[in-house]
Amino acid sequence: MRFVSIISVLPLLLIAACSLAPEAPSINWAIAVHGGAGTMSRDAPAAQLKAYEDAMTRALVLGKGMLADGASALDVCEAVMRSMEDNPMFNAGKGAVFNEQGKHELDASIMDGSTMRCGAVAGVRTVKHPISLARKVMADTRHVLLSGDGAEKFADVAGVERVENSYFDTEKRRRSLQRLLRERKRTGSLVPSDQSMDYGTVGCVVRDRDGRLAAATTTGGMTGKKWGRIGDSPIIGAGNYADEYAAVSCTGTGEEFIRHSIARSVTARMAHGGETLQQACSAVIHDVLKQGDGGLIAVDRDGNIATPFNSSGMYRAMADSRGRFEVAIFPIER
Ligand code: ASP
Repeated sequence: MRFVSIISVLPLLLIAACSLAPEAPSINWAIAVHGGAGTMSRDAPAAQLKAYEDAMTRALVLGKGMLADGASALDVCEAVMRSMEDNPMFNAGKGAVFNEQGKHELDASIMDGSTMRCGAVAGVRTVKHPISLARKVMADTRHVLLSGDGAEKFADVAGVERVENSYFDTEKRRRSLQRLLRERKRTGSLVPSDQSMDYGTVGCVVRDRDGRLAAATTTGGMTGKKWGRIGDSPIIGAGNYADEYAAVSCTGTGEEFIRHSIARSVTARMAHGGETLQQACSAVIHDVLKQGDGGLIAVDRDGNIATPFNSSGMYRAMADSRGRFEVAIFPIER
């Protein structure tokens, strides 16, 4: 009799136990940052890999701190990009690659997923923080993308910090250009055999504690680029995008990301195909793009983060309000 009564109350006990089990708190804020994708080697000097990990960590700590203090997704994206634009290790502001003429032309864009407002600049030559000019295009004009001389004229009135083009010079990037030009002369090919010379585009995606999503990306483009070439980073929907589903920032061979509207494809697959963030990101990187094209970082409205890439590595870092904090370069076996 006693045995039967225990059996009969077991389901009730189980239900009670489950309802007492602590539920994982939902994510309040989340952030991911990238510092470029490409053919990185695990055999690179340990000090060099550590220097990149440290730089990614600093960018993440900046963004994480702002988010914990309640900053908006847009403000966090801009601040993190500005800090990476200042770091000569990255192909963004200081440290940007050289074009064929031995000059720098920078591209950047920023998008607020909660309002669909966005701004971008392409081919700017004297703007210390291209991401801030992109934000001013968004905030202070009725346009989305300004390029070249027009963007420089806007910078004159927008009140952003200006520098000589040579401010962006670094010896490492100059050597990459010289190597590329020698190779072009020898082989006649416009496609460099060593893609490592372009590493370092920077991007940031954020879900803030009010649920707003934003994405930002800055790049110097590709070493030895010709004829006013513009990559995917300032093209909304190609290299950068945010809406109510997700915020996405890409890095890699820009032409491929433009061809396939990669950043917007992620959110379209979620909105119209019912895919999760991970499914959509994985599909565009592994099924749509080719091996070696690059990668992306993305965050969705629930604070999930995806960082797929099809190159040998991608400098990346991510954190959220539940205590996640990760910095990585190469694929992680789970
Ligand atoms: N996507 C950038 C461009 O094509 C370069 C990169 O991410 O490395 O301009």
